[in-house]
Amino acid sequence: MNKRLLLAHRPEGLPTEDTWKLDVQPIPEPGEGQLVVRNHYVSLDPAMRIWIKDVRSYLPPVQLGDVMRGGTIGEVIASKHPTFKEGMYVSGWGGIQQYTLTDGQGMFAVDPSLVPLPTYIGGLGMPGLTAYFGIFDVCKIKEGDVVLISGGAGAVGSVAGQIAKIKGCYVVGIAGGPEKCAYMKDELGFDDVIDYKNENIYAGIKRSCPKGMDVYFDNVGGEILDAALARLKLGARIAICGAISQYNSDDFYGPKNYSNLINVRGTMQGFLVLDYGKRYGEAVAQMGQWMAQGKLKTREAIYEGIENFNDTFLRLFNGDKKGKLVLKVIED
Ligand code: NAP
Repeated sequence: MNKRLLLAHRPEGLPTEDTWKLDVQPIPEPGEGQLVVRNHYVSLDPAMRIWIKDVRSYLPPVQLGDVMRGGTIGEVIASKHPTFKEGMYVSGWGGIQQYTLTDGQGMFAVDPSLVPLPTYIGGLGMPGLTAYFGIFDVCKIKEGDVVLISGGAGAVGSVAGQIAKIKGCYVVGIAGGPEKCAYMKDELGFDDVIDYKNENIYAGIKRSCPKGMDVYFDNVGGEILDAALARLKLGARIAICGAISQYNSDDFYGPKNYSNLINVRGTMQGFLVLDYGKRYGEAVAQMGQWMAQGKLKTREAIYEGIENFNDTFLRLFNGDKKGKLVLKVIED
């Protein structure tokens, strides 16, 4: 049988168990031109909280009663598709369910012998690609830049910071708690760290970037963005990657201190990884090489059971996870 997670209610604030309905259906059969994927892992991403709001965004909202949208990696178990054959592993938007029936649109084959499967929805998947295009194309990093990254221990931020280090920048990561800060400094090689849960963020940025930043890679928005806006160097670039601190609120908090962009002739630019589809190959090849050379490290926080979706999803917002959040949905 195929266990599927449907959107049952639109939550106010943090999602709860009754936001979702677990539904069980027979495993689908492929028609002509279709394939069925047995999903091993699904990706849990902050943007899911936006997709379940009934608001206009870059993708249509998930409708009540629909399978929750989500990135997946799994094995083709049945196929009448010309390209995707039984036994291949594919990644794509399979949804939060154990089996996906698809015509292959948006699916791409991966090689499970190169990296562990969850890495294809982590460091070599959407979060890694976001970091790559954000740090190169939006932040336009140069050797010697002072680069500040919020969500620095997370899926996107940890990769963005390591790429900036590889390119000779001075990197400061912001994260919540001593353990994540030690990870950024000792494991990822960041130059300095700020524990925003235990240090005033304005004081922390002043301490770690005394002359200001050339680049701020923003994953969280809110007051941390305010504090970063106040300490920019001439010509600074801010990449608005995400605003997780605001996703559970209906009253988005807008930035203060943005007029400092005038003083420093700075730019603040939002971007979406989905716009870089034609260049994913370039990014995966480069990041795969850095991983093989030991220059780029990623880690996944893997939890088990589609029944545990909501509790696991909440870890994105309370920070109780280490690395890219992944849910194993395959049952042995
Ligand atoms: P992640 O960083 O692995 O996980 C989310 C982290 O956010 C948590 O672990 C927590 O870390 C931090 N956080 C949660 N609430 C916070 C708050 N109120 N203030 C400060 N930090 C908070 O998630 P991710 O997948 O890498 O995503 C990071 C950001 O990138 C998200 O905003 C996401 O929407 C965005 N994103 C954008 C694109 C794009 O195309 N633009 C693509 C992918 C992701 P701490 O324990 O350190 O607090």
